[in-house]
Amino acid sequence: MSTDSSHTGTKPTVIIVGGGIIGCSAAYELGKAGFACTLIEKGALNQEASTAAAGMLGAQSETHRPGPFYELCRLSQQLYRAWTDELEQVSGLTAQYVAEGIVRAALTEEDEAELRGRLSWIRDAEWVQPAEMLKLEPELTDAVRGGLYLPADHHVHPVWLAKTLQAAIAKQGCAIREWTPVIRLLTEPGSGRIRGVQTSEGPLYADLVVLAAGAWSPALTEPLGLSLPMFPVKGQCMSLKPEAPLIRSTVFTKGCYVVPKRDGSCIVGATQTEAGFDKRPTAKAIAEMHAKAAALLPRLADAEFVSTWAGLRPGTRDGLPFLGTWDAAPGLIFATGHYRNGILLAPATARIVAELAQGRPTSADLTPFTPARAAAGTAA
Ligand code: FAD
Repeated sequence: MSTDSSHTGTKPTVIIVGGGIIGCSAAYELGKAGFACTLIEKGALNQEASTAAAGMLGAQSETHRPGPFYELCRLSQQLYRAWTDELEQVSGLTAQYVAEGIVRAALTEEDEAELRGRLSWIRDAEWVQPAEMLKLEPELTDAVRGGLYLPADHHVHPVWLAKTLQAAIAKQGCAIREWTPVIRLLTEPGSGRIRGVQTSEGPLYADLVVLAAGAWSPALTEPLGLSLPMFPVKGQCMSLKPEAPLIRSTVFTKGCYVVPKRDGSCIVGATQTEAGFDKRPTAKAIAEMHAKAAALLPRLADAEFVSTWAGLRPGTRDGLPFLGTWDAAPGLIFATGHYRNGILLAPATARIVAELAQGRPTSADLTPFTPARAAAGTAA
């Protein structure tokens, strides 16, 4: 392996650690901004959390309180359509964007109260009475107590988004190194400046390094003296194929969602457990999830079973991503900890990473997401 990534002439160089949706999106925006990018992945690209996702762009359905995280989700949601259109133009592939919203159905009194509470601050949402909801989605259980209709919470197919991004960055000339674990970040003695990475194949140097290693990120910051309060959150999903399409919108209730994909299949998800780095699906969890989905949409009981899988969400203790820079390690940009919303947050994250790399003002105030909160012990 080359020990010098400045082979690209006068372009500034950047190494991106982690080839999930966040790393690939960052590589794409950095490439557009004129950086020579090297993307380093310990396995194959997009084989972890990013292709285990359901692909919901759920700014409204996923946030439980107003504030900077909701605003970041909204920003990304607003960027999404144009971003995928552009990626499709560059790659010739489709991310399978579906511009149908989410029906967030309440099945219990408690859930109804929580959802009604969101109406005071959430945008693009309306309360729908049970009869109206059944008109929107006639296959829903008649036990539904009404709920929110969230027309802006569209979805993509994460596997196709990944293919689209991979093709786009390859066309841009990004150097992609798969099966190459980064063992540690290389610092300049004295200043602490990040100068590159030590990989299984040798050292590699660049002007900047982006940390986009998902649930594995803490292993790389620990030697810098920064303990990121992050942990893997196992999520199990399944794909079912009803004989004929059952729903137009994504149907979501507490603990279960069903996302109808363009090919007629539905992604049903997702469990949420802390089980270390174990990502084997289990019969019990899949059976329970199927029972929940069939209680929500009774005709799903007879759907063809297609497949099941699990992935590891990059969870953080305070539920916020680590996005920004850290004074103690200049040259390092953090883009990790996107937990349940990394697909949604990809375009905004990538834009912000490129802005930071260029030293430009960022599209969002990064104070709530600063890695310094881990050093200060306020992220736990
Ligand atoms: P990952 O995709 O995990 O990528 C990190 C990459 O870094 C991995 O490929 C890993 O191999 C690599 N890496 C780690 N360490 C190293 C190293 N030392 N050297 C080199 N490479 C390294 N989000 C949504 O927005 N909408 C959804 O509907 C949704 N549904 C989900 C459903 C499930 C079941 C799950 C599991 C997640 C879901 N998510 C959803 C969350 C979303 O998938 C994640 O937030 C997102 O994929 C995180 O992307 P990432 O690139 O940070 O992580």
